[in-house]
Amino acid sequence: MTPEQRHRCMSHIKGSGTKPELKVRRWLWSHGYRYRLNVKSVPGKPDIVLRPYQTAIFVNGCFWHGHGVTESPAKSDELRAKSDLINSACCKIPTTNREFWVEKIRRNQERDQQNYALLQENGWNVIVIWECQLKPDRIEYTMHDVELLLNSNLLSMYKQHTPVPYSTEEETSLPMAAES
Ligand SMILES: [Zn+2]
Repeated sequence: MTPEQRHRCMSHIKGSGTKPELKVRRWLWSHGYRYRLNVKSVPGKPDIVLRPYQTAIFVNGCFWHGHGVTESPAKSDELRAKSDLINSACCKIPTTNREFWVEKIRRNQERDQQNYALLQENGWNVIVIWECQLKPDRIEYTMHDVELLLNSNLLSMYKQHTPVPYSTEEETSLPMAAES
């Protein structure tokens, strides 16, 4: 390989490696988690499926999935009809063609909610990871939270019965035995 070819090759790897979903996959893999990708038989085609943990992970881009956007308060029926969304720190909707983008993001959010609900109805745990949570200074913190969730999902499968609380009633109604 010439230095130029090598550079192109490296920058290609680096480029694809910065994709949010890949960051999550790499972290999970290097911490011993094994998973499947885009499993079609699972509703909503989650990005990552960890079957032993009964968990589906979605890695969402902040813009397309409208991370943190809020409904602008509708002051009248007319406004409510074409209500706007309020930008968040990581989802800034362009002012040009704004209505188009608002509509698109809203539809994506609706589809997301339907997918999550369908998965949960089918007994899956859902974890949503946002692109902005995977920045270099946040990824470790985020993934440790994900790991806690995965482990609590695993434990909850073995905790399907609750023990009957211990009762002292019988003890107190019985006469105390006295040794003579
Ligand atoms: Zn975000």
